[in-house]
Amino acid sequence: MNARRTYLDYNATAPLRPEARAAVVAALDVFGNPSSVHAEGRRARAIVDEAREAIAALVNAEASEVVFTSGATEANTWALSAPWQWIAFAGIEHDSVRGPAVEIAAARGAVAVELPVARDGAVDIPLDGDGNGLLVALQMANNETGVLQDVATAGLKALAYGARLHCDAVQAPGRIAIDFKTLGASTLSLSAHKIGGPKGVGALVVGSGVPLPPLFTGGGQEQRRRAGTENVAAIAGFGAAARAALKDLDGAPRLAALRDRLEADVKHVTPEAVIVGADAPRLPNTSSIALPGASAETLVIKMDLAGIAVSAGAACSSGKVGESHVLNAMGLAPEIASSAIRVSIGPETTEDDIAAFVAAWKRICGASLAA
Ligand code: PMP
Repeated sequence: MNARRTYLDYNATAPLRPEARAAVVAALDVFGNPSSVHAEGRRARAIVDEAREAIAALVNAEASEVVFTSGATEANTWALSAPWQWIAFAGIEHDSVRGPAVEIAAARGAVAVELPVARDGAVDIPLDGDGNGLLVALQMANNETGVLQDVATAGLKALAYGARLHCDAVQAPGRIAIDFKTLGASTLSLSAHKIGGPKGVGALVVGSGVPLPPLFTGGGQEQRRRAGTENVAAIAGFGAAARAALKDLDGAPRLAALRDRLEADVKHVTPEAVIVGADAPRLPNTSSIALPGASAETLVIKMDLAGIAVSAGAACSSGKVGESHVLNAMGLAPEIASSAIRVSIGPETTEDDIAAFVAAWKRICGASLAA
């Protein structure tokens, strides 16, 4: 396994940043309990508080609004689990929103409403009447296509209607600016490992005054909202990654240029390839490339054998490639939905990485078409 690998699957997880690793390692030696009043405890508390400031800065929220969780799956589930009467979401949402939305609604006797999605991936939120008791879940950026939603407009609409908005912003930090203060969302979820932090830590940003019942009560940590002794080392890594991700925004045009080059070269080699969401506002780092007639699973395996890590749709826990519920929800033809691979790049991606992908694409797809 010494062969050079090209990692183009940042939306699944980003490589651990050196500064995040250093922060984790340093914090592991700070053994105090952040809830203890003595000096050892206060040292650990300072690490958690510093990280909280960094995450707040990343999304322009108040530090007091940031609640650490075990990741975005927990944050999404928590936001959805308040006693809503209706939960509205689109089929393009991540499974950690879709699943709980349906299950929580069923368990509570509430109604789960599926929102319509246009072919370019834009979610339509038809609101009228009284929105009291309604939660609208709307992602900021899609993990498979990179398509952006107009969350701020949806947030204004939701507020005017008396509804609340939850935003899964997991794929956005470091790629587009996030302004929680003007977003109109009551809650927003983040995950450290998508921005080069460690896995198993994330946050739910809860707007001040938003009446969200605590997730766990227990020992009352996180201002009595999410009890349990804080994962200090992971939180420290999350904080360091958040500081670095904020600086990444300057590199977004470089990512978009690499992404555009990759897409142009793919179209050159295989003119029949379809770039999903090409005309929609998108993240600068994500390409969903469909080759009608090909199998996404086969493409991913062939790419892997060629030393290139990409994915088909979302990585699911079984490691197998399932049908893309996102592309299905966009109403794309089955030959597109079943042949799309996702290429997602990040700050460490170079022109050589793009060239390696295009060369492999040429070998794999160019050859199979000529055959
Ligand atoms: N939402 C989106 C859009 C995601 O891409 C992911 C990760 N695949 C999650 C939520 C879940 O995040 P975590 O891995 O922190 O539970």
